[in-house]
Amino acid sequence: MLSIGSNVGDRLGYLRGCVEGLGDWVVAVSSVYSTEPWGGVAQDEFLNAILLVEDPTADALEWLRRGQACEAAAQRTRKIRWGPRTLDVDVIDVELTRRQDPELTLPHPRAHQRAFVLVPWLDVAPDAVLAGHGRVADLVAALPAAERRSVRRRNDLVLR
Ligand code: ATP
Ligand code: CA
Ligand code: CA
Repeated sequence: MLSIGSNVGDRLGYLRGCVEGLGDWVVAVSSVYSTEPWGGVAQDEFLNAILLVEDPTADALEWLRRGQACEAAAQRTRKIRWGPRTLDVDVIDVELTRRQDPELTLPHPRAHQRAFVLVPWLDVAPDAVLAGHGRVADLVAALPAAERRSVRRRNDLVLR
């Protein structure tokens, strides 16, 4: 499962470009959400979505590489941690794989705290489970109200 986000330039265009780039590997796409930036850096709102992807030949590291290829195609540059970017692609989980490695940590170590990951995830997988943290629906219910309010579904925007 991949989380994609953009808060610079043609945000929807960057998200769409990523969905197109991943092509037939994308088996489900969430709604698009306007979300408040996470991490304390003052910056514009993000657009975020979740992609369910499938490819029997790809392992977790291959999904990281494919995400990075999408970021490169969006001319991503990053100056500060959690700062603005044209495209961010995070690997959230790969079939309940647990992995402790700075290059790729799975599940994504901050996903369970992030409404912009959990809420769109429920769109495409209402029964989803985040390895080590339980049911995504329960994690959403347990989020602080302000965190839940920080994501708003954009029915006017469609990814594909
Ligand atoms: P956050 O991880 O808190 O969402 P970020 O997305 O801004 O922060 P990046 O600068 O995009 O962080 O990524 C920093 C490094 O994190 C990448 O070089 C990548 O190798 C590593 N990384 C570790 N685990 C993951 C993961 N699950 N998904 C994507 N990148 C990861
Ligand atoms: Ca991220
Ligand atoms: Ca990232």
